[in-house]
Amino acid sequence: MSIKEDLSQIKNDLPNNVTLVAVSKTKPVEDIQEAYDTGHRVFGENKVQEMTAKWEKLPQDIEWHMIGHVQRNKVKYMAPFVHLIHGVDSLKLLKEIEKQARKNERIINCLLQIHIAKEDTKFGMDEEEVHTLLSSSEFKEMKHVKITGLMGMATFTEDKDRIKKEFSSLKTLFSSLKETYPENEHLQFNTLSMGMSGDYELAIEYGSNMVRIGSSIFGARNY
Ligand SMILES: *Cc1c(COP(=O)(O)O)cnc(C)c1O
Repeated sequence: MSIKEDLSQIKNDLPNNVTLVAVSKTKPVEDIQEAYDTGHRVFGENKVQEMTAKWEKLPQDIEWHMIGHVQRNKVKYMAPFVHLIHGVDSLKLLKEIEKQARKNERIINCLLQIHIAKEDTKFGMDEEEVHTLLSSSEFKEMKHVKITGLMGMATFTEDKDRIKKEFSSLKTLFSSLKETYPENEHLQFNTLSMGMSGDYELAIEYGSNMVRIGSSIFGARNY
């Protein structure tokens, strides 16, 4: 099937409250343009330089999501345009985002990445680190970032029970943070980003409202 057909089928099947981030990493701008031409506007990339290069070439009304691990020295390149950074995993990184957002006179939306997988290779914070960050005076003084929710990646496995457990633990944390921390201009738990091509249906069952889907739309990637 074509990109257009795969994309429309997935969108038709998603519940209305779930946002689809079409993950276009490694794919050429022509593929993104094809998806764009169906009316889709939300795209995700995992490398800052690649996203910036694509942003320069493609229509300006695309919402760019940074879904990968972010190095602090790269934040400045995406600060003028990035819509949502999914992978915030430290106060240090958040401070750099605050600094670059201020320079650009913007407020940048961020998700805190939580480590839910068994694998050590996946980035993210644990519950205690999240509380430390959210309670810190440094975060409270920030005016140019807004934390809008959490992101997590399940273990890459065929073991559905394992994946369910991980998604369920992320949803539980999300709900408890939402109850614990009063909403304000810079903190509002409304987005739970979990689920990729292989596990997004399960993720939605467990409360995801933002899925990041690449290969099921654009085809397999050749690295
Ligand atoms: C690549 C990537 C995805 C999409 O993966 P697919 O399996 O191709 O859908 C989702 N989230 C993150 C963080 C990724 O790096």
